[in-house]
Amino acid sequence: MSPALAKAREYCGLFGIFDCDDAVEKVFCGLYSLQHRGEESAGIASSDGKSIIHHKNLGLVNDVFSPESLRRIKNPHAIGHVRYSTFGSSDNIDNVQPLVVLYSKGEVAIAHNGQLLGASKQRNDYEQHGSIFHTTSDTEVIVHLMAKPSHVEKPNLSHVLNHLKGAFALIFLTKDEMVGVRDRNGFRPLSIGRLNNSYVLSSETCAFDQIGAEFVRDVEPGEVVYINKDGLKSEIYCSPRRIRPAYCIFELIYFARPDSNVFGENVHLFRKQLGRRLAKEFPVDADVVIAVPEGGNSAAMGFSEASGIPLDRGFIRNHYVGRTFILPEQESREKKVELKLNAIAEVVRGKRVIVVDDSIVRGTTSKSRLKLLRKAGAKEVHMRISCPPHRFPCYYGIDFQIKDELIAAKHTLDEIKDFLHADSLGYLSTEGMLSCTASSASPRNHYCNACFTGDYPASIENVGKKTLIKEPINRKAVTI
Ligand code: SF4
Repeated sequence: MSPALAKAREYCGLFGIFDCDDAVEKVFCGLYSLQHRGEESAGIASSDGKSIIHHKNLGLVNDVFSPESLRRIKNPHAIGHVRYSTFGSSDNIDNVQPLVVLYSKGEVAIAHNGQLLGASKQRNDYEQHGSIFHTTSDTEVIVHLMAKPSHVEKPNLSHVLNHLKGAFALIFLTKDEMVGVRDRNGFRPLSIGRLNNSYVLSSETCAFDQIGAEFVRDVEPGEVVYINKDGLKSEIYCSPRRIRPAYCIFELIYFARPDSNVFGENVHLFRKQLGRRLAKEFPVDADVVIAVPEGGNSAAMGFSEASGIPLDRGFIRNHYVGRTFILPEQESREKKVELKLNAIAEVVRGKRVIVVDDSIVRGTTSKSRLKLLRKAGAKEVHMRISCPPHRFPCYYGIDFQIKDELIAAKHTLDEIKDFLHADSLGYLSTEGMLSCTASSASPRNHYCNACFTGDYPASIENVGKKTLIKEPINRKAVTI
């Protein structure tokens, strides 16, 4: 397993723009801003109003597209996608999105962020009736649903969307229309922006800033927006009583970029608030607060502000150690962590250090980081985590490892503290985490927190693979 896999991973980032002179270049810039949401592959599909062309490959955005090739494509409508894969093989180029297909109503390109529940069963049903699938991605099920005769006859997508279960933010592109969709829980973000007369769709608002677009509003849970030459038309595609907002709170804690506004919250300010609350819940006498970069930066600021303990940089990250950096197998995990991060001995030597991070999934990477601080001479190391322990798998588009690999699913906080060789360990409580949504446009009961609580907001029947667990949650801080 690579070091990156020791953390949770997001599935995808989506971006699209309709009716713009340099649409393909804009989508390239948008995807560049969303690179953190998926580093395994990238793709852009564009239309000139008559037909769709697409280019996609495995790799980072910058590896897949060259500026020259982008400049040559003058199509005014384009959508793009960056991807991690957990449903469907990561090294299969056929799985790279946008998927572009020809069906009875014409060509369509589809970009998907999330995870469809029951997709395997739907796929089996189709295959038993003779349908042929070209990818191993759950997204292809949508294509087959669209091609189903009874659905093709319907005037819009609503009929198809009502047959989808699970988490999905989608952007479709036909030859003359761009369509944005969020599932009825709104697990994954999707925002609408405006650049002059062009409409833009993006997983995160940081990509609007990149191209000079203005944020208009979020696509609402259960909403589909049709964008074409007549402007934007909105429809609620399911019965209003089936709409139950359950925004992924882990987008705010960990995934989204701090300069994005997600679910009505600025991500950086939200994380600072988590840090302030964490300082109140688990105070400790110490000399300095440091962050595990980049994820812990904002929460460490909040922790320092609320505790009055000075903030400093204890780690420096080597930005040149990218995803393709591969060490010989025999090299230790510590060596890999050391190459990515280095402790500043002059900051931590002889000090009682509070180290703030955004999450612990497996625990092995955190352990190596704390070891770096000890080696650099820290006298005490107090670990503070700006969310509750992860004890349950996510079925809505985040690749948490199965139960056996979530350290908090199998171990008490005392055991985790000992494993990390920390002097104390404190996770933010669920109540503390939810209290930080108080300033939000979205009330606290509009957030999903199932990976912390096991309270799944959408049915997870027949999801298979991952094992559910129910264990009491021990929230007290552990100090020796
Ligand atoms: S289970 Fe956790 S990671 Fe998955 S959608 Fe809910 S809050 Fe997000």
